Amino acid sequence: MIEANRSHWAAALPAANPGLERDIEADVAVIGGGFTGLSAAYCLKREGTKEWVVLLEAERCGNGASGRNGAMLLTATEDRYME
Ligand SMILES: Cc1cc2nc3c(=O)[nH]c(=O)nc-3n(C[C@H](O)[C@H](O)[C@H](O)COP(=O)(O)OP(=O)(O)OC[C@H]3O[C@@H](n4cnc5c(N)ncnc54)[C@H](O)[C@@H]3O)c2cc1C
Repeated sequence: MIEANRSHWAAALPAANPGLERDIEADVAVIGGGFTGLSAAYCLKREGTKEWVVLLEAERCGNGASGRNGAMLLTATEDRYME
Protein backbone atom coordinates (compact mmCIF):
# COMPACT_ATOMS: atom_id res chain seq x y z
CA MET A 1 0.00 0.00 0.00
CA ILE A 2 1.28 3.47 -0.89
CA GLU A 3 0.46 6.16 1.61
CA ALA A 4 -0.86 9.32 -0.07
CA ASN A 5 0.95 12.59 0.63
CA ARG A 6 -1.55 14.64 2.65
CA SER A 7 0.70 17.63 3.32
CA HIS A 8 -0.56 21.21 3.16
CA TRP A 9 1.21 21.92 -0.13
CA ALA A 10 0.07 18.64 -1.68
CA ALA A 11 -3.54 19.60 -0.98
CA ALA A 12 -3.06 22.72 -3.12
CA LEU A 13 -1.89 20.79 -6.20
CA PRO A 14 -4.14 20.12 -9.21
CA ALA A 15 -5.79 16.71 -9.37
CA ALA A 16 -3.50 13.78 -10.12
CA ASN A 17 -3.51 12.26 -13.59
CA PRO A 18 -6.09 9.50 -14.07
CA GLY A 19 -4.95 5.91 -13.74
CA LEU A 20 -4.03 3.74 -16.69
CA GLU A 21 -7.09 2.16 -18.22
CA ARG A 22 -5.39 -0.08 -20.77
CA ASP A 23 -2.22 -2.05 -21.26
CA ILE A 24 0.68 -0.11 -22.73
CA GLU A 25 4.06 -1.14 -24.05
CA ALA A 26 7.37 0.55 -23.37
CA ASP A 27 11.07 -0.06 -23.91
CA VAL A 28 11.85 1.35 -20.46
CA ALA A 29 9.39 1.47 -17.59
CA VAL A 30 10.48 3.70 -14.72
CA ILE A 31 8.56 2.91 -11.54
CA GLY A 32 8.05 5.84 -9.18
CA GLY A 33 7.88 9.58 -9.75
CA GLY A 34 10.26 10.79 -7.07
CA PHE A 35 13.70 12.36 -7.58
CA THR A 36 15.15 8.99 -8.63
CA GLY A 37 12.52 8.03 -11.18
CA LEU A 38 11.97 11.51 -12.60
CA SER A 39 15.71 12.15 -13.03
CA ALA A 40 16.21 8.70 -14.59
CA ALA A 41 13.43 9.28 -17.13
CA TYR A 42 14.55 12.86 -17.78
CA CYS A 43 18.19 11.87 -18.31
CA LEU A 44 17.24 9.05 -20.68
CA LYS A 45 15.27 11.46 -22.87
CA ARG A 46 17.89 14.21 -22.57
CA GLU A 47 20.51 11.79 -23.88
CA GLY A 48 18.34 11.42 -26.96
CA THR A 49 17.29 7.82 -26.51
CA LYS A 50 14.89 6.62 -29.18
CA GLU A 51 13.40 4.19 -26.72
CA TRP A 52 9.85 4.67 -25.53
CA VAL A 53 10.19 5.64 -21.87
CA VAL A 54 7.19 5.48 -19.56
CA LEU A 55 7.14 6.71 -15.99
CA LEU A 56 4.59 5.04 -13.75
CA GLU A 57 3.63 6.61 -10.42
CA ALA A 58 1.11 5.00 -8.09
CA GLU A 59 -0.17 8.24 -6.57
CA ARG A 60 1.29 11.42 -8.05
CA CYS A 61 4.81 12.63 -8.73
CA GLY A 62 6.43 13.78 -5.52
CA ASN A 63 4.13 11.62 -3.44
CA GLY A 64 6.93 9.89 -1.56
CA ALA A 65 9.97 11.19 0.27
CA SER A 66 10.75 13.62 -2.57
CA GLY A 67 7.60 15.56 -1.78
CA ARG A 68 8.03 15.45 1.98
CA ASN A 69 11.65 16.30 2.65
CA GLY A 70 13.21 19.33 4.28
CA ALA A 71 14.83 20.59 1.03
CA MET A 72 18.31 20.74 2.58
CA LEU A 73 21.12 20.57 0.02
CA LEU A 74 24.11 19.22 1.87
CA THR A 75 27.71 19.25 0.61
CA ALA A 76 28.70 16.17 2.59
CA THR A 77 27.23 13.29 4.44
CA GLU A 78 28.26 11.22 7.41
CA ASP A 79 31.54 9.32 7.05
CA ARG A 80 29.85 5.99 7.59
CA TYR A 81 27.74 6.56 4.49
CA MET A 82 30.67 7.87 2.44
CA GLU A 83 32.65 4.73 3.31
C1 LIG B 1 10.94 13.56 6.28
C2 LIG B 1 12.10 13.51 5.28
C3 LIG B 1 12.98 14.56 5.23
C4 LIG B 1 14.04 14.53 4.30
N1 LIG B 1 14.86 15.61 4.19
C5 LIG B 1 15.82 15.64 3.24
C6 LIG B 1 16.59 16.82 3.00
O1 LIG B 1 16.40 17.84 3.64
N2 LIG B 1 17.55 16.78 2.04
C7 LIG B 1 17.76 15.66 1.27
O2 LIG B 1 18.63 15.69 0.40
N3 LIG B 1 17.03 14.54 1.46
C8 LIG B 1 16.07 14.50 2.40
N4 LIG B 1 15.31 13.36 2.57
C9 LIG B 1 15.61 12.20 1.73
C10 LIG B 1 15.07 12.37 0.32
O3 LIG B 1 13.80 13.02 0.34
C11 LIG B 1 14.96 10.98 -0.31
O4 LIG B 1 16.20 10.33 -0.26
C12 LIG B 1 14.51 11.06 -1.76
O5 LIG B 1 13.37 11.89 -1.92
C13 LIG B 1 14.22 9.66 -2.29
O6 LIG B 1 13.75 9.81 -3.62
P1 LIG B 1 13.23 8.56 -4.41
O7 LIG B 1 12.83 9.03 -5.77
O8 LIG B 1 14.25 7.48 -4.34
O9 LIG B 1 11.99 8.02 -3.57
P2 LIG B 1 10.53 8.68 -3.42
O10 LIG B 1 10.51 10.16 -3.51
O11 LIG B 1 9.94 8.07 -2.19
O12 LIG B 1 9.76 8.16 -4.71
C14 LIG B 1 9.27 6.87 -4.85
C15 LIG B 1 7.95 6.99 -5.60
O13 LIG B 1 7.57 5.70 -6.04
C16 LIG B 1 6.18 5.58 -5.92
N5 LIG B 1 5.95 4.14 -5.90
C17 LIG B 1 6.33 3.26 -4.95
N6 LIG B 1 5.98 2.02 -5.31
C18 LIG B 1 5.36 2.11 -6.52
C19 LIG B 1 4.77 1.18 -7.38
N7 LIG B 1 4.74 -0.14 -7.09
N8 LIG B 1 4.24 1.61 -8.55
C20 LIG B 1 4.27 2.93 -8.85
N9 LIG B 1 4.81 3.88 -8.06
C21 LIG B 1 5.35 3.46 -6.90
C22 LIG B 1 5.83 6.33 -4.66
O14 LIG B 1 4.49 6.78 -4.63
C23 LIG B 1 6.80 7.51 -4.73
O15 LIG B 1 6.23 8.65 -5.35
C24 LIG B 1 14.23 13.38 3.47
C25 LIG B 1 13.33 12.31 3.55
C26 LIG B 1 12.26 12.38 4.43
C27 LIG B 1 11.27 11.23 4.47
